[in-house]
Amino acid sequence: MFLTPTNALLLLLAVDAPDRILVNGVVHTMDDAHPMAQAVAMTAGRISAVGSTADLMATKGPRTEVIDLLGATVVPGLKESHGHFVGIGQARMTLNLVGTKSWEEVVARVAVAVKARPKGAWIVGRGWHEGKWETKPQHQVRGFPSHDELSAVSPDNPVYLVRADGHAGFANAQAISMMKITKETKPPTGGDIIRDESGQATGVFIDKAQGLIRPPGPTEGDVREAIRLATEECLRKGITFFDDAGEDLSTIAIYKDLAAKNQLGLRLHAMIRGLDNLKRFGPPQPGGADSFLSIRSLKLSIDGALGSRGAKLLEPYVDDPGNTGLWVTDPAVVSEAALYGIENGFQVNVHAIGDAGNRAVLDAFEAAFKAHPEKKDVRFRDEHSQILDEKEIPRFGKLGVIASIQGIHATSDLPWAAERLGEPRVLEGAYVWQKLKKSGAVLINGTDAPVEDVDPIKSFYATVTRQSETGVPAGGYQPDQRLTRLEALRSYTKDAYWASFAEKFGGTIEPGKWADLTVLSNDLLSVPDSEILSTKVLYTIVNGNIAYRSGWFKKLH
Ligand SMILES: [Zn+2]
Repeated sequence: MFLTPTNALLLLLAVDAPDRILVNGVVHTMDDAHPMAQAVAMTAGRISAVGSTADLMATKGPRTEVIDLLGATVVPGLKESHGHFVGIGQARMTLNLVGTKSWEEVVARVAVAVKARPKGAWIVGRGWHEGKWETKPQHQVRGFPSHDELSAVSPDNPVYLVRADGHAGFANAQAISMMKITKETKPPTGGDIIRDESGQATGVFIDKAQGLIRPPGPTEGDVREAIRLATEECLRKGITFFDDAGEDLSTIAIYKDLAAKNQLGLRLHAMIRGLDNLKRFGPPQPGGADSFLSIRSLKLSIDGALGSRGAKLLEPYVDDPGNTGLWVTDPAVVSEAALYGIENGFQVNVHAIGDAGNRAVLDAFEAAFKAHPEKKDVRFRDEHSQILDEKEIPRFGKLGVIASIQGIHATSDLPWAAERLGEPRVLEGAYVWQKLKKSGAVLINGTDAPVEDVDPIKSFYATVTRQSETGVPAGGYQPDQRLTRLEALRSYTKDAYWASFAEKFGGTIEPGKWADLTVLSNDLLSVPDSEILSTKVLYTIVNGNIAYRSGWFKKLH
């Protein structure tokens, strides 16, 4: 065809027409100026228009794909703000113990795995959680079973089973003897070996003591496969953006390689695990509008977890008198890291579960802020913010520390948290999201996957109801601490993007922003509580491309 002035103009218009328009939807833009719309158009990976179905249909070109949403709901691409990306994939590559309902079931699954492996081969699993066992094991030491039954079914294979939260591991006799652990073995600082009356290890290794059991590590190929599996799982569940809460430099290098080749399937805000790694990394790499990867954050863990009694408390555990938990990282190192971060342009994100852990993190952050009042907008994060002394709560808002919560942890942990902490501490400061909000803190949400299912719908439900999936307890745990629907959606979108320095690129549905969208079968802002969990992900759209599409989405009622 010859380019006459007239058809050249037509050609330009065709180029300008959107690649894809979603119409007849309920669009929650999270943009306060225009909160609702019916249709979204996208061009070259960006949102090009937001408005009514009629207005956007008028911009349709010959090559524009139009998707009729039939009333489905569109939200900004959901962001998981604290998960372990490679761990999600690895959980699918090892013996998966998530959902096991008793110690006997764990042992039985290992017995099956033993039959499938050659003698001497390691059996590695993950996902057990004694708090979720319906029957308690007969012989317990500090709330955990001993390795006897496990060792009996696996006499010739070393076995290592990581607890769901990654803060404890269970070894059998073969693994304990291979690693030469005896009565004399001392746990490293920040770790604990559970022992019976005779001083023998029972098999449970807490926090840093897990380093005493060393199954062969994954190969680079294994890590790449885990990334692929994690990407698939997140996209299927509507996640377009993921904050990876701590990887070593070898995994970070794989992310960089994938990003450079345009092979990351979703956006990653990858935190570097450990101050030594951070110092070796070089300057922050903040990503940007055209990037799928930002590396500008440090991840540390100041304490352990509540279930394995590693969370550092101001007063001892009520069910383990004398134990106040563990400093997994010396608070002095956290203080040094906060200063290093603020001076070198890194965001500092520290895991803190116990009230003493949270206090120490806020102390470290406050000291760094005071030392550098000229550094504004550093967006440091307290990862988990679970058990807080009343005094700490206002400090979140005052200091501008982001509370990175996991909605689903509240309903997983509150059934037994009082056993560990006693009722008063639970009521005062356990999972007190509204108290944090009232302090002025920004709350962001996630699942800590693979500790919990990465599914944002389940976490959203827990966040707004504080009930188990079966609706227990009626009214929810401490219902006054629930987030509203809108607050919960913000914690998965607008606020979550801000917490990763990506608010200019996404988190709201506005022209110019990333065409990253999640399309859902239910309107999460208005559907009854009882229907939240039946919400299906219909489309996951990343950079204007349909990364996931479910088979069927017409509303049946
Ligand atoms: Zn975590």
